[in-house]
Amino acid sequence: MLLRQNESAAYAIGASLYDYRWHVVAIDLAGIVIDREQVDLATPDAEAAVTGLGDGIERLRQRLDPQRMLPLIGIGPPGLVDVSSHVVKSAADLGWRDVPIGERITERTGVPCAVVNRSKAGALAAYWHIARRTVDHLIFISIGTGVSAGIVQQGRLLLGANSSAGELGHITILPDGPRCECGNHGCLQELISERAIASGARAALRRNPDSVLVETCGHHPDTLTALQVLDAAERGDAVALSVVETISGYLTVAVANLINLFNPQLIILGGPVAERSPRLVASVARSVGDRAMAYPLSVARIVGNELGPEAGAVGTAVLVLENAPRLILQLPIYR
Ligand SMILES: [Zn+2]
Repeated sequence: MLLRQNESAAYAIGASLYDYRWHVVAIDLAGIVIDREQVDLATPDAEAAVTGLGDGIERLRQRLDPQRMLPLIGIGPPGLVDVSSHVVKSAADLGWRDVPIGERITERTGVPCAVVNRSKAGALAAYWHIARRTVDHLIFISIGTGVSAGIVQQGRLLLGANSSAGELGHITILPDGPRCECGNHGCLQELISERAIASGARAALRRNPDSVLVETCGHHPDTLTALQVLDAAERGDAVALSVVETISGYLTVAVANLINLFNPQLIILGGPVAERSPRLVASVARSVGDRAMAYPLSVARIVGNELGPEAGAVGTAVLVLENAPRLILQLPIYR
């Protein structure tokens, strides 16, 4: 007799920070989102972020059946995360240091937490939903306020010795480049993050006052955002296009190095920057062949992130699902 799992017997909650917004989702046992919440942060301040996350989780839980919630909450913050203590050691792009995010959410909700970097969570979501668990080697790259990568090898998330594997944003691209908050110079993050895109466009505007970007920012270049620049590039503005071309060059170097190092079958370019710029994804896919070795490149595909802003949240909930066989026995109906 064939038995089939009842996908709605339980659900998992996961959350991840995307730009300045927490996405909180509940997924069923098949990994499908059944409900969601969002919390916008007025400032990137860590205290406000932890409080906002707790609010979002509680609002979502109030709408769902408490009897069926798997007793673990997945959280995907930015930065270097110690997965054993559930602490964000540092998130240079947001100025966070030693934030005990797991402990704080457990105090608020009474539920234990599993915490991983948001790009690692994105990689898990991509493994389940984009690769449908048929591709065992993939890399998810998130480009937004920060830059990082989640690496799945042989169907398992690569954590490294102290769970910091995948800090792609802090590989050196220009040895004499701009100083990064991490203390190094010329890190990828300083060259392609949202802040880098906005400041690159502002500098270019001073030389090209005819760009449509001048109108976009209401003649106040200081208010120009990266997403406005990326949108202008999609519409063909020359200044914005030159900025996208520059970041594409840097990102291509990083992606080619990942292909040579990890031999992935799939590289997903996600996060606010890549998701707003199909042109950037296409440009990297086109030019990576100039740099990566032909043999590993022959199996590698570069794609955009079809899961969108919820990828990290879905991935942290997937992390909970991976513990489902153990957790499900703790549900009230089985006790
Ligand atoms: Zn750095």
